[in-house]
Amino acid sequence: MPVLGIESTAHTASVGIVAEGPEVLSNASDMHRPKAGGIHPREAANHHVEVLPGLVRQALDRAHLRPAEIEAVAFSQGPGLGPCLRAGATVARTLSLLWERPLVPVNHCVAHVEIARALSGLDDALLLYASGGNTQVIAHGSGRYRVLGETLDVGIGNFLDKLWIALGGSFPGGPEIEREARQGSELLPLPYSVHGMDVAFSGMLTAGLALAAKGAARPDLAYSVEVTAYGMLTEIAERALAHRGQGAVVLGGGVACNGRLREMVRAMAEARGTSSFAPPASLCVDNGAMIAWTGLLAHRAGLRIAVEDSAVLPRQRTDQVELPWRS
Ligand code: AMP
Ligand code: MG
Repeated sequence: MPVLGIESTAHTASVGIVAEGPEVLSNASDMHRPKAGGIHPREAANHHVEVLPGLVRQALDRAHLRPAEIEAVAFSQGPGLGPCLRAGATVARTLSLLWERPLVPVNHCVAHVEIARALSGLDDALLLYASGGNTQVIAHGSGRYRVLGETLDVGIGNFLDKLWIALGGSFPGGPEIEREARQGSELLPLPYSVHGMDVAFSGMLTAGLALAAKGAARPDLAYSVEVTAYGMLTEIAERALAHRGQGAVVLGGGVACNGRLREMVRAMAEARGTSSFAPPASLCVDNGAMIAWTGLLAHRAGLRIAVEDSAVLPRQRTDQVELPWRS
């Protein structure tokens, strides 16, 4: 039977229903778009509380399913913004009790890995996970997903969004920067901050704002930010590939919707004699279907959680999670 999954870690509330395969039967989402500035956790959580009941109904309707046909209810337990996580967890607990179905906790980052792994058919690939709040290079090793490299400050998406909003654009900034960058041609000097397999973006944010204050053209700035930031991600993915000596690269996270990043990673992988894969955009961004799919794997491996033990874990790390379905 299919599993229903609830995602609510940050700006997006989403409910997906997924069957064996993975076959995505539905994936209903609603993104909180702040009128000004970045995400305020409490406001995003209020948004999620408002839209989640309707999204549950939409997900069931689109999948042509009744609650009795759902095997389990999965939810993003962490990492993420506390108030947002609690909104999704509360809905998941309610459905679990109401429908008398097991409750299954899912780590959000692991879910990005699992949906990309399943869709690509690449069992031992490296994941470049580039989203709003997270930027990590992840590989499977000794029973866990290991973080080989990550951002030392903000996630790349938060960096792009923050820069774009400061330049007068709107949220989310990543797709708008991508459009603007197509008109840019001059590569402006920005800090290229790679430390081993880690990256940092705050220096580029400061430098980008300084260039804008000096009158740099927005298209050139957008182009330069893309080339520099995606170059950094491609470099750490390549270093991780070189250390592992095997495997392909899969992409995940909202920033993995970006055409330039996809192309840079594809060219790098091909030059190393391997390949890359990126899921369709709807399964790259935060979505309920990836939570449902990972919940299905976990539930079939015997994982479930009692409602009284199901507190959210805003700081849960990718490598803290056991993977009974992979052992
Ligand atoms: P997520 O947290 O995984 O849902 O990803 C959200 C982030 O993805 C936001 O920071 C967006 O700006 C970013 N994003 C979405 N589409 C694109 C794109 N085409 N290029 C760059 N960033 C993007
Ligand atoms: Mg994400």
